[in-house]
Amino acid sequence: MARYTGPSCRLCRREGQKLFLKGERCYGTKCALERRSYAPGQHGMDRKKLSNYGLQLREKQKAKRFYGLQEAQFLNLFKKAASKKGMTGENLLIMLETRLDNVVFRMGFASSRKEARQLVTHGHFTLNGKKVDIPSLAVKAGDVVAVKAKSQDSPKFKEIKEMTISTPAWVSLDQNKLEGKVLSIPTRDQIDTPVAEHLIVELYSK
Ligand code: SF4
Repeated sequence: MARYTGPSCRLCRREGQKLFLKGERCYGTKCALERRSYAPGQHGMDRKKLSNYGLQLREKQKAKRFYGLQEAQFLNLFKKAASKKGMTGENLLIMLETRLDNVVFRMGFASSRKEARQLVTHGHFTLNGKKVDIPSLAVKAGDVVAVKAKSQDSPKFKEIKEMTISTPAWVSLDQNKLEGKVLSIPTRDQIDTPVAEHLIVELYSK
């Protein structure tokens, strides 16, 4: 699957919002958006009023970049969300949140979604006791995500045992065991992603 390999901070500057793509750095003064809060490129400092279409497009790009998906993956997920019962926008956000890579990030095993995806791909986790390496897997309520026994001694995961980690209410974490549980599927109000999902629905409904 093709992947964006350019500078992550450029994406935040384009969206004019922190997308937290670089872990620790995003929370400090080295964050590029703190220092250059205008869009990248020659005309980045020109303020333009966006059309409706522009607003919808930016919202979709923001959500896609926030979760680190490519266009085709995002569109596929949207189609699945639209075919489900309920509100498409909410379904979409819930499906994005319950991807295994996002859950690994939310449990505090990784400092960014990008790192979480890499750790999953490299086979450091088990899902309900079975090894997994597919970041896009959808987790369910009751699922247990754990660091594989062989990986538990790595400095990266040993460090996690000492850290102060706060998780959202819909997941729990046992830091000593390096094991997390999906307590429930998140509701919209439990998802703090700064995205107006109705704009994405409007964009794809054209
Ligand atoms: Fe975005 Fe993080 Fe870069 Fe700041 S440091 S611009 S939040 S990726």
